[in-house]
Amino acid sequence: MSDLLTITPEGLFCAAADAHIDPVRPVAKAIITHGHADHARAGHGAVLATRQTLDIMAIRYGENFCGTAQDTGYGDTLKVGAVDVSLHPAGHVLGSAQVLLEAGGKRTVVSGDYKRQSDPTCAPFELVICDTFVTEATFGLPVFRHPPARSEIAKLLASLDLFPDQTHLVGAYALGKAQRVLAEIRAAGYDKIIYLHGALEKLTAYYQSQGIDFGPLEPVGKRGKELQGEIVLCPPGQLSDRWARRFGDPVAVMASGWMRVRARARQRGAELPLILSDHADWDDLCRTILETGADQIWVTHGAEEALVHWCELNGRNARPLNMIGYDDGEDADGAQLEGA
Ligand SMILES: [Zn+2]
Ligand SMILES: [Zn+2]
Repeated sequence: MSDLLTITPEGLFCAAADAHIDPVRPVAKAIITHGHADHARAGHGAVLATRQTLDIMAIRYGENFCGTAQDTGYGDTLKVGAVDVSLHPAGHVLGSAQVLLEAGGKRTVVSGDYKRQSDPTCAPFELVICDTFVTEATFGLPVFRHPPARSEIAKLLASLDLFPDQTHLVGAYALGKAQRVLAEIRAAGYDKIIYLHGALEKLTAYYQSQGIDFGPLEPVGKRGKELQGEIVLCPPGQLSDRWARRFGDPVAVMASGWMRVRARARQRGAELPLILSDHADWDDLCRTILETGADQIWVTHGAEEALVHWCELNGRNARPLNMIGYDDGEDADGAQLEGA
């Protein structure tokens, strides 16, 4: 057991700091790992997070999303109650952080969501050595192995060559995934205008304001059939929406870690599934657990039991947290905007 953390109905609680981490209900003091809506909720008293996470919360919820907001840079240590708190890059989305809690010579890391694959739109995951590691397990089954982003984007560009008269409509969540898809398309050398559904504009503009270059972008606006042969990004729900019909017979593309599962791709109406995830795959979950050196592993957020079992086989103490209120990025209501 970690001395530093307990589980409450609101989520993970650090009594020595009198603060919750990513609470699912309003609390007096919250430390927020990143801007996805199941982690970052409005209505807390005080919030501690990276500047970028605070900015993203303000974009989504308005400037008054909490009582008082405090930002801290990656690696800076702050005293919160009796605990030294510092945030470290999680490689998940812009501003995302792991939370390191240090007290009494013990180190506990709450990963939030993380990935190890490279991503041109956020700081890379930083390994933090600790005694207790709280890991997500969104893709915590051995079947989940994410191929390199480059090879997935190559499928999209190959399809554009094959079907030059069809709009390629790419479903991608508004925070993180859409921007990573844009950056990876540019990295592959595609330099034409890319068109954005209105729901993706604000956060993409925020990424640009943080110095991330996506090349020429334009809002879809009222356009439809004149965008044949072009790439259009939209939230996943729009792929099967009336809105998509304006493009005539578009190729429906979906970018998500779940696209490994054929049934999910079909359910999404994705003709061209791209396996592109902002979470660690099975190999990276296992590797990260070993690399942290932690002997206590708390597993949350996804396929908890399989990863707990793997930890035990590998000599770690592990427990599933069974917390409610976090979604796996696709199925829950309102997850339209979220990551996977
Ligand atoms: Zn997330
Ligand atoms: Zn999450």
